[in-house]
Amino acid sequence: MNITVVGAGIIGCAVAHELASRGARVQIVDMRGTGRGATQASAGILAPHIEGHIDALLRLGACSLSLYDGFVARVSADARQTIEYERSGTLQVARDGREADELDAAARRLEAAGIEHRLMNGDEARRIEPALSSRIHAALLTPRHGYVKVLELTMALVAAAANHGATSTTATVRRVDARDNSVAVTTSAGIIEGDAVVLAAGSWTSGLAPSAASPPAVRPIRGQLLHLHFSHVPLSRVVWGADCYLVPWHDGSLLAGATVEDVGFDESATTAGVTHLLERSAELLTAVPDARFEAVRVGLRPATPDEVPLIGPSSTMRGVYYAAGHYRSGVLLAPLTAKLVADLVMDGRRAPELELVRPDRFGL
Ligand SMILES: Cc1cc2nc3c(=O)[nH]c(=O)nc-3n(C[C@H](O)[C@H](O)[C@H](O)COP(=O)(O)OP(=O)(O)OC[C@H]3O[C@@H](n4cnc5c(N)ncnc54)[C@H](O)[C@@H]3O)c2cc1C
Repeated sequence: MNITVVGAGIIGCAVAHELASRGARVQIVDMRGTGRGATQASAGILAPHIEGHIDALLRLGACSLSLYDGFVARVSADARQTIEYERSGTLQVARDGREADELDAAARRLEAAGIEHRLMNGDEARRIEPALSSRIHAALLTPRHGYVKVLELTMALVAAAANHGATSTTATVRRVDARDNSVAVTTSAGIIEGDAVVLAAGSWTSGLAPSAASPPAVRPIRGQLLHLHFSHVPLSRVVWGADCYLVPWHDGSLLAGATVEDVGFDESATTAGVTHLLERSAELLTAVPDARFEAVRVGLRPATPDEVPLIGPSSTMRGVYYAAGHYRSGVLLAPLTAKLVADLVMDGRRAPELELVRPDRFGL
């Protein structure tokens, strides 16, 4: 089976690897190269019990997290590369009584769902994370959460897919047309004909999939994220506050994110965004002003109107499939998305989760 995957973000690369490893001949097409969209800005936090504020998202996120160990092990083996991936937990922190009440409510939800967790006061939190600010007076530890270094994972996915025969092309896809027995993808470098196409073009997906839906099925929500560096890693796990989160990497890097801005297709960093993140992160970790400033990263999160992704067949074009609209959870949902798409395209198998993410709910 010849399959074109449009988009080399975390989603397109995960789908391409899964399809190629099951024997498809895969061509990945991206207008800018691997991982240059929302993916390069992502914090890589794997935390469905924080981000899953909608039932469907919680169910999809928890399912995808359960696939993560096997996913990273398989990609790492296929690519012959190591990938920084830790299941060291998340520590949600509260600065005042109102935020502490929210952590109490979150702890009750985890208790009801049978998810391991530990509620603690500020002193207990500083015993496990000594660098935390004295302003923190309550915290909630969820040990099953974690993070992955996203660009490292995305590059490994492309290498792993290539080792199964996939190819990558840098070109802009201009249109997709379903023909009698094939699908034609018109790109700036020529036409690619194949048996199927997977649209994984992130925030740009609506431009390739004409529909009468208003607002569009996928629209961009800008996120700015800081990359800081310390000589010693200041934290041992992800710290999540109401206005800011921190992700420590092994090499002393610390990611501080993220803004949420509805500004269209504008990938600029702003002084207001950087100032906001520096101030909010210093409220959690007083050492932030001592850090080296490495970079500010900006990405456009692909958001759908109901914040749930679009995964599955097009209802208007035979042979066309969507894997888009992952908004704030594309990294978390990558293993599940890849599996759902490959089961469907290669084997015609419709997993029950596909009912939660049907593209035709927006006329696609
Ligand atoms: C600041 C920030 C922090 C985040 N943190 C987290 C997190 O902690 N955990 C988590 O799970 N998620 C997180 N996310 C969300 C996550 O990054 C996204 O959901 C995910 O990256 C979406 O991946 P994608 O492959 O769908 O899109 P993208 O990464 O945007 O990739 C789409 C690709 O399609 C290509 N493309 C578009 N149009 C065309 C065309 N016409 N022709 C050819 N190529 C095209 C683009 O060049 C791009 O490379 C974060 C996002 C941001 C911005």
